Amino acid sequence: MSTLQDKQLADMPIKEVMIPSEKVAHVQMNNPLEHALLVLVKSGYSAVPVLDVDFKLKGTIGKTIILNQILGLERFEFEKLSDMRVHPFMNVDIPHLTKEMTFMDGLNASINHPFVCVSDAEGYFDGIVTRRAMLKRIKRDYYTNKP
Ligand code: AMP
Repeated sequence: MSTLQDKQLADMPIKEVMIPSEKVAHVQMNNPLEHALLVLVKSGYSAVPVLDVDFKLKGTIGKTIILNQILGLERFEFEKLSDMRVHPFMNVDIPHLTKEMTFMDGLNASINHPFVCVSDAEGYFDGIVTRRAMLKRIKRDYYTNKP
């Protein structure tokens, strides 16, 4: 592992490992929670970004928070979901990156998050960076010669 290689990867723009917005499952703030749960279960993701109608990043929503809202004494009260919207329950306390930030910025942000959203200076959603993609890149650059 050379110092030069360390620096090259650390300084690489995060956009090189970003999943672009068109390939990212998302929900909108005003969607019913029922729709959000369907997207999460069908996609298999534990959480997805929440956008507004202009495609600006507003937060994330995950399965656990949704299921907690409908946790009754003896069963999940799924019928409640269609009357509830995403925005009161989304997580707004999330880190985010811009495309110009570095791989090291992404690595730092992803220590406590399986994925980190990328948006531009005006808040428009560009995509996500996953911890998995960063680990794969580290493995590729340091431990194999294969892509
Ligand atoms: P992964 O490392 O691929 O398991 O992804 C970690 C998390 O990132 C998933 O559980 C989702 O919350 C999120 N994620 C990954 N890929 C996507 C995608 N294409 N669309 C929406 N969320 C995603």
